[in-house]
Amino acid sequence: MQNHMKKIAFFGGSFDPIHFGHLNLAIQMKERFELDQVLFSPTPCSPFKLDSPPGASLEHRSKMIKKAINEIDSFLLCEIESKFEKISYTIDALLELKQINLDAQIFLILSNEAFKGFNKWKESDKILEIATILVGSRDNYLPDGELLGKIPKENFVKMPILDISATEIRERLKKDLYCGHLVNHKVLEYIELHKLYQS
Ligand code: ATP
Repeated sequence: MQNHMKKIAFFGGSFDPIHFGHLNLAIQMKERFELDQVLFSPTPCSPFKLDSPPGASLEHRSKMIKKAINEIDSFLLCEIESKFEKISYTIDALLELKQINLDAQIFLILSNEAFKGFNKWKESDKILEIATILVGSRDNYLPDGELLGKIPKENFVKMPILDISATEIRERLKKDLYCGHLVNHKVLEYIELHKLYQS
């Protein structure tokens, strides 16, 4: 029996592909907030990226996540968003997650980049009611105005954010450049096997 409320963190993104920047953010949040589970949730397609849908299918991206997190205790693939088909909103995934984990405290992991657009997210106020937001940034970032009153300052965490983006990785793969310093080698093997990101 656990003597504390289970802490479950939701970490959503395209993960196209998952890289060390994602893992570093998630590991730092897990350790700092003593999270029991971190759920990696690949989005079918982000409402903010409709013009540039993911390069790899949801199935491929999910499998790559599994390979990347396999050895990391308490990191799991979350498949809630897979049934949302096309566009997926974080609020809908969080509502479902809460529904199946009524006794848990739900967290939402974001980078400061992602958090900067948070005001424009569907039902952002409701997200704040359901989930405790955790934001990682490389500087001492704090939002201004209203949001600051709604999220504890300690939840804005200064950390060494790795300068890695999936866009850069896809470009390097296209040029057949080495990516072992950016992506788990098992994920790279998967990419090679399935000939992903070649064009
Ligand atoms: P793309 O380059 O395709 O836009 P991305 O690398 O930014 O992708 P996403 O899958 O869109 O990755 O990101 C998922 C989440 O991880 C978002 O909150 C995003 O801001 C965050 N994130 C992305 N890259 C990093 C990084 N290097 N360090 C910390 N967080 C990151």
